[in-house]
Amino acid sequence: MIKILENQSLKTYNTFGIDASADFFVEVNSIEEIKEALSLTEEKKLPLLIINGGSNMLLTQDWKGLVLKINLKGIEIVREDEDFVWVKVQGGENWHEFVQFTLRNDYGGLENLSLIPGNAGTAPIQNIGASGVEIKDTMTELTALEIVSKKPRVFTNADCHFGYRESIFKNECKNQFVLLDVTFKLSKRNHVLHTEYGAIRLELEKRGIENPTIQDVSEAVIAIRQSKLPDPKEMGNSGSFFKNPVIPKFQFEELEKRYPNISGYASGDGVKVAAGWLIENAGWKGKRIGNAGVHEKQALVLVNYGHATGKEIFDLSERIIEDIYAKYGIQLEREVNII
Ligand SMILES: Cc1cc2nc3c(=O)[nH]c(=O)nc-3n(C[C@H](O)[C@H](O)[C@H](O)COP(=O)(O)OP(=O)(O)OC[C@H]3O[C@@H](n4cnc5c(N)ncnc54)[C@H](O)[C@@H]3O)c2cc1C
Repeated sequence: MIKILENQSLKTYNTFGIDASADFFVEVNSIEEIKEALSLTEEKKLPLLIINGGSNMLLTQDWKGLVLKINLKGIEIVREDEDFVWVKVQGGENWHEFVQFTLRNDYGGLENLSLIPGNAGTAPIQNIGASGVEIKDTMTELTALEIVSKKPRVFTNADCHFGYRESIFKNECKNQFVLLDVTFKLSKRNHVLHTEYGAIRLELEKRGIENPTIQDVSEAVIAIRQSKLPDPKEMGNSGSFFKNPVIPKFQFEELEKRYPNISGYASGDGVKVAAGWLIENAGWKGKRIGNAGVHEKQALVLVNYGHATGKEIFDLSERIIEDIYAKYGIQLEREVNII
């Protein structure tokens, strides 16, 4: 039996620390409880908002409906052979703790994704990625509950239409499914390491490690992330606020003439430009407007200095988008979900 709370503050449920409230709020621990909550939203015609780890959303208003907080727990080995293991993780498990579980068991494939906040069930939605690795590289399938029919459906990796910070769940299937569990195929031996990302190589060198293990790679990634990114427990934020835009090659070449140190690399037919470079070069790094600001070490991260409203942070992001367009002719897109 689910327990519905009324007028619940969401401040501790989102890493931006925005003090919005929900008219109705329920924590769900099983599929049956999710179905019960969905029936209630149908019956009472309540708009539905799913919150998992709350690390990729900006709450710009109080939620005049029901917030479903996913609490599904469990990790199980569903199959294995000599070389690989298939591990299924429930959607409400903390992502980093799950990665640590795989490393304790010496399963390779997720080490570069250490310390990404949020929960496992959300990871496929934007195909989380860091230092050259994305979950699409190891995810085999996921189960999601269709909201209308309340029936579970299995999506294979190919069904998810993964792209850079993209999946079917941000497009054709947006707001139509509750993601329940995710399965990964991880290596048991002959691990393939991804240490080509410059900062990882340097960190391993600094530690005097020549033949790194997956655990060494994870520790290097953790150290790099801790030195660059603000901890949401200390300063509200949602990681990278904007995506790195992909622009046509000719446009990049034109910009390179004006800004010889512009940062970008080939991506498909175009060039992926570092949004952090654009924002920093436009003079926004470390700027503060009221309670909202651009982080002083990482221009891609917007921060809450204490009592910012979601609207203040949103307005700051609007100003940045307008300025970047005026200066470089590039339209920035938000990575964070605006609620
Ligand atoms: C400091 C910091 C660093 C970060 N670094 C990275 C990084 O390196 N790479 C990266 O890719 N991301 C990064 N992020 C973003 C974030 O960690 C990921 O996007 C993460 O997967 C979000 O998970 P969550 O559970 O917190 O999602 P939430 O914020 O709870 O939800 C995000 C969206 O998904 C929806 N949703 C949540 N759960 C479900 C579900 N079960 N079914 C259907 N819809 C659902 C929500 O309604 C919302 O729209 C970072 C964030 C922070 C704060």
